[in-house]
Amino acid sequence: MFAFSETVTPRFFEPVSGGESTRGSVICDLCPHRCKLSGNMTGICKTRSGADGGSLPFYGHISSAAIDPIEKKPLFHYRPGESIFSIGFVGCNLRCPFCQNWRISQSTDAETQTFMPEEIIDKTIALGMKQIAYTYSEPLIHAEYIINCMTLARSRKIANVLVTNGCVNERAAGEIIPLVDAVNIDLKCFSDANYKKVLGGSLPAVKYFIKTASENTHTELTTLIIPDFNDNIQEIDGCIDFIASISVNIPWHISAYYPAYKWNFPPASPEAIISIKERAAQKLLYCYTGNINDNGNNTFCLNCGAVLIERNGYKVKILGLIKKHTDNNTYYCGKCGAKTHIRY
Ligand code: SF4
Ligand code: SF4
Repeated sequence: MFAFSETVTPRFFEPVSGGESTRGSVICDLCPHRCKLSGNMTGICKTRSGADGGSLPFYGHISSAAIDPIEKKPLFHYRPGESIFSIGFVGCNLRCPFCQNWRISQSTDAETQTFMPEEIIDKTIALGMKQIAYTYSEPLIHAEYIINCMTLARSRKIANVLVTNGCVNERAAGEIIPLVDAVNIDLKCFSDANYKKVLGGSLPAVKYFIKTASENTHTELTTLIIPDFNDNIQEIDGCIDFIASISVNIPWHISAYYPAYKWNFPPASPEAIISIKERAAQKLLYCYTGNINDNGNNTFCLNCGAVLIERNGYKVKILGLIKKHTDNNTYYCGKCGAKTHIRY
């Protein structure tokens, strides 16, 4: 355990204006919940407190750390085949009843170790990693911490990868996205009513985050397909058309749900996942499946059809990528020379 840093500065809090009854209360403006907090009260995410005009009792509390294949985030078009140091936190501003990481997202009781940003980036470098992922639970509710880590990582040539529900307000999105080198964002469904009622989130906030991220950094999206929640045609077409309206080049990971936390429906069938992928592929260029074995996750050259990247689970073979110029980050098909959308 390490000492709490003197330099931790809580942000995204604002005083509540009003009379005597609101004195000392603050609003957390980080996410659409805009929790009103007083004293030691914490917000919906359980990690941000009203004490002392806004404080961060879980700053630097790391619940999990591992070296993962980057494909596990999932990211398929960013540094394919590489490993990434991945850290997780506690708490979340959503309450998805099918959360696969509910032990760390829906409680702050998980065992943690505290690491200041300098320690985490030192560790990333000591492990020989070129990238770090903020992942597992919801990183955005720890905005001050990840901003500090990301700034430091950038200064030491470590790439920042964010895996997130994308549910924050515009100010936070505007501060965090410029520090991110690649992001995978959940698009959990396409109904704002379900985002609100079932997940405790906000579809407009997520759409804004996706659009802004895709205009500024490498962006991939994931949708966990959940029977009787988001597998109807309206939801699926809503997701497809929204993604296509931003860019048909955005990789979309269509992943099979399996029972977790409070959701006991049977898992999504492989046939259902493949059928959604085929429907999406009519409008989007890169659709991939997750949590099923369908050998359908290779990346092909859009021009000649050559296999650029072969994937078998997390085993990745880079077959046909070449770099023609040393001064940019563009990779080309080794067979026909066409430009690809893979980035390193
Ligand atoms: S980040 Fe947490 S405390 Fe802040 S508004 Fe969202 S849920 Fe509330
Ligand atoms: S947003 Fe992610 S971490 Fe949070 S509850 Fe939903 S699935 Fe779990």
